Amino acid sequence: MTTGTLKIHSENLLPIIKKWLYSDRDIFVRELVSNACDAIAKVKILREREGYACSDDEFRIDLVVDKEKKTLTFTDTGIGMDQEEVEKYISQLAFSGAEDFIKKYENKDEKESIIGHFGLGFYSAFMVADKVEIQTLSYKEGAEAVFWSSDGSTEYQIDKGSREKRGTEITLHINSENEEFLDPTRIREILNRYSQYLPTPIYLDDAKINDVEPLWLKSPSECTDEDYLQFYRHLNPMQPDPLFWIHLNVDYPFHLQGILYFPKMKKTFEVQKNSIKLFCNRVFVTDQCQDLIPEFLTMLQGCIDSPDIPLNVSRSSLQMDRTVRQLASHISKKVSDRLKALYESDREKFITCYEDVELIAKLGIVQDDKFYDRVKGCLIWKNLSDEWTTIEEYLERSSLTKEKIFYLTEDQMDSPFTELYKDKGIEVLVSRCPIDSHVMSFLEGKLAPNKFMRIDGELCDALIDSSKEDTLLDADGKTASGKLSELIKEELNLENVEVEAKSLASDALPAFLVIDESARRMREYMRISQMDLSMMGPSQYKFVVNTNHSLISSIEEIKQKDAKLAKEIICQVYDLARLNQRELDSKDLKGFSDRMTQILQELANKVTD
Ligand code: ADP
Repeated sequence: MTTGTLKIHSENLLPIIKKWLYSDRDIFVRELVSNACDAIAKVKILREREGYACSDDEFRIDLVVDKEKKTLTFTDTGIGMDQEEVEKYISQLAFSGAEDFIKKYENKDEKESIIGHFGLGFYSAFMVADKVEIQTLSYKEGAEAVFWSSDGSTEYQIDKGSREKRGTEITLHINSENEEFLDPTRIREILNRYSQYLPTPIYLDDAKINDVEPLWLKSPSECTDEDYLQFYRHLNPMQPDPLFWIHLNVDYPFHLQGILYFPKMKKTFEVQKNSIKLFCNRVFVTDQCQDLIPEFLTMLQGCIDSPDIPLNVSRSSLQMDRTVRQLASHISKKVSDRLKALYESDREKFITCYEDVELIAKLGIVQDDKFYDRVKGCLIWKNLSDEWTTIEEYLERSSLTKEKIFYLTEDQMDSPFTELYKDKGIEVLVSRCPIDSHVMSFLEGKLAPNKFMRIDGELCDALIDSSKEDTLLDADGKTASGKLSELIKEELNLENVEVEAKSLASDALPAFLVIDESARRMREYMRISQMDLSMMGPSQYKFVVNTNHSLISSIEEIKQKDAKLAKEIICQVYDLARLNQRELDSKDLKGFSDRMTQILQELANKVTD
C-alpha cells in the first residue's frame, strides 16, 4: 500500500468546499452519476472507434444504499482507471479552476447562486462522507484493479484493488450529519431531479430510475403531437395539457435543444415561474432560468439543453455573456414566430388560446422591442360585439373617434355608461389583462398620435346631442347650462370636482364622471406596485350632468320648492356616478346609503302622511 498527499495548493480547499456547499449537498449525486455516465460514454466511443468488444446490456449505473454499514455505493461499467490514472485524475486534484473560483468569491454573497453550477466533480462526495473508497478496473488489457481511499483530509491510500469487472465502484461512508442520504426515497428524489434523462440506465437498489427519453433530443420531424403531450405530462404531472409548443434545435452559433410549452394560464399575476428546466448534456442543472431567458418567457414550461451555457460564472456576468444574450434573443424570436404562424395559419385556434398567451405576448412587447415588431400584427382585442380586432383594423374603421381607441375595463361591461357608447355604435374594446394600462402606454408611443381612452376618460363628442346644446347667453353673459353647472358645483361643494352640464344624446343617464386617463393609469400603476396612493392626493373628477335628463333639467325648479331635496338629489346622483364607475370608496358608502334610506323614507312618508 502507498500513501500520498493530495495535490492541492490550498490546504483549506476541502473544508471550504464542504462548508459552502452545505446548502446544496444533493449535487454530489449528480456529480458522481455524471462521472459514471461519462465513463460509460467513453467505452462506447472505444467500441465505435477502436472496435472494443462490448454489448449495450453491460452499460448500467447502480446506486446501492446499505443502512447498516452506512454506505452509499455508485457502481458503473465504464472505462475504469488504472493506478496511474487514479493518481492523475483523482489524487492530483485538477482544481486550479476551483481554486480561482474560491479566491474570487470567498467573501461574496453571490456564492449561493453559483453553488451547484460549479462542477466540483468527484470531491463533492466529501460533503456528505467521512471516507470515500474507490475500487476500479481499467478496460485496458492486463490492467490491474486499484483501490483508493481518503478521509477528506489531504491524505489518501492507494493499493491493489479487488474489482474483477471493468468499471468503477465508489463507496461513500456517509457521516452522521448526512444520514438522510441513506434513505433510498431521498436518493430517488435526487436522481429524478438531476439524472432522469441520462442515456445510461440507472438503478437504485435494482429498481430502474430513468426510462423516459429526453424528447428534446429527437428531431422535430420524428415527434408526434402525442409525444409532445406525453412528455409535457411527464414534466408537469396533474396539469392541464398545454396549448402548443416550440421545439428548439439550434446548431449555430451555439448548441441548444429544447421544447417550450405554452401552458394554460390563469389570468392573474400568480403565474408559475421556474418551470423551464435547464439541462447540460441531459444533466439537470437548474430551474432558475431567469438570467438566461427573457423574463416574459419564464412563464413558459419545458426544458432547454445546452452545453454552451457558461454555468460556472455568477449571475451578473451571465447576463453579459454573449452566448446567453444570443440564446435569449433566439428563443424570443422562435416564440414570436410561433405566435405569428399560428395567427396567420389558424386564427380561430389562436383566438381560443389567446386568453392564455395574452399575458406572455403583452409582457413580451413591453420588454422586448424586437418581439413587439414581430408580434404586433397578431395583438388582438375583443370589442363589445364579441369580435376580435387588431388596433390597426380598429383605427381604419373608426375614423369618427378622432385618433382615440376607446376601451373599457371588464368591470364596466354592464355599466349604464357603456350603453351610451353602444347606442351610438362607437366601437369599444374590452381590456381584460392585468397589465393592459402599461401595454397601452407602450403602444401609444408606437402608434402616436393615437391614444387609448377608457370610455370615461373624456366626453366623446359623438355622445353629445349638439342640437340641444343651449348656447344662448342671458343678461349675466352665462348660458343656462353654465348656470346649472355652477348651481351643482355649489351644492356639491367639493374641491376636486369640476362640473359640466351637457346635453347627452341619451336621456337614460343623469350624470357620469370623467376621470383623467393618465392620472387614473398612474393610480393603477401605483396600486399594482403597492405604492402609497395618498401621495397622489384625491382623484380629480369632471362631473358631467346630462341636461337631457329630467332630474337634472328640473333641479333648479326643485331647489326653489325644496332646497334640501335638491341637494340630496345632487349628492345622490354624484355618488351613483361614482358607484357605477367603481370610484365610490368604502368610507363614502355609509353616507350614500344613509341618504338613500332618507330619500326612500321621504317617499314613503308621502304615501302614508
Ligand atoms: P470532472 O468530471 O469535472 O473532470 P472529477 O473530479 O469529477 O472532475 O473527475 C476527475 C476525473 O476522474 C474525470 O475526468 C475522470 O477522468 C476520472 N473519473 C472520475 N470518476 C470516474 C469514474 N466513475 N470512472 C472513470 N473515471 C472517473
